[in-house]
Amino acid sequence: MTITTRFAPSPTGPLHLGHAASAMLAHDAARAAGGRFLLRIEDIDPGRARQGFVTGIEDDLRWLGLDWDGPVVRQSARLPLYADALDRLKAMGLVYPCFCTRAEIAASASAPHGPEGAIYPGTCRALSDAVRAERMMREPHCWRLDMAPAVARAGPLDWHDRVAGRIAAIPDAQGDVVLARKDAPVSYHLAVTLDDAAQGVTLVVRGADLFAATHIHRLLQALLGLPTPDYWHHPLLTGPDGRRLAKRDGAKSLAELRAGGADPKALLAGLRAQLGLSPARA
Ligand code: GLU
Repeated sequence: MTITTRFAPSPTGPLHLGHAASAMLAHDAARAAGGRFLLRIEDIDPGRARQGFVTGIEDDLRWLGLDWDGPVVRQSARLPLYADALDRLKAMGLVYPCFCTRAEIAASASAPHGPEGAIYPGTCRALSDAVRAERMMREPHCWRLDMAPAVARAGPLDWHDRVAGRIAAIPDAQGDVVLARKDAPVSYHLAVTLDDAAQGVTLVVRGADLFAATHIHRLLQALLGLPTPDYWHHPLLTGPDGRRLAKRDGAKSLAELRAGGADPKALLAGLRAQLGLSPARA
């Protein structure tokens, strides 16, 4: 089987070293196996995506020597695919409209926290069809996955991670996650799951900060009849103090490093060393 990997950044800011690590690992895994490395721009956030950042992403990858195969796919051009999947989940009775504001959810006293903030307390789950229909005409709403019946329908699920091994999918803990946003016709979870399948991605390489999201993606694959790729959640880069590198710590963007005359080969070699990869394996 040929391997297909991808780099899927959101064009909401400049790329940093962590992005370079994800892109490099995905690129190298594909090239080592004679497979394909794809570039997908995750520009579903109309308020934050900028064309300038898309151009910057392409410039950064070229500078690093990480060449991608085929045309660049943009999620903003694929909205009908996502709408169709949401319709299928509606027909299965597994999603419901939610009218709650962020503030209302945060204020719900008992709200436990998951990887994406407060877990939704389920306020809108119990609304009658009549109330839903009436409120949908006049109130902004997102669409949430009805987690309990979705999990019951899918049954036990697992996936394979190159670092963590075989993982049982436990999406329940994240509550009724959003699949279509108030301000965007789709959410990260639904779009990324559909696109990885549609593009034939066989190995998803991304940072360990997205590990929790894979529980959700595995469930969506089962509900929508999509194949499950292999996953490689690589460790996050750390600064000299051992803490995760973050923009707020002043970590330079790739564009700034480039402008400062950094050597891209040395930069990639440094990333491999930090990730514990020998040059030979990379
Ligand atoms: N677009 C996501 C981000 O930039 C990454 C998506 C993924 O690799 O699954 O954080």
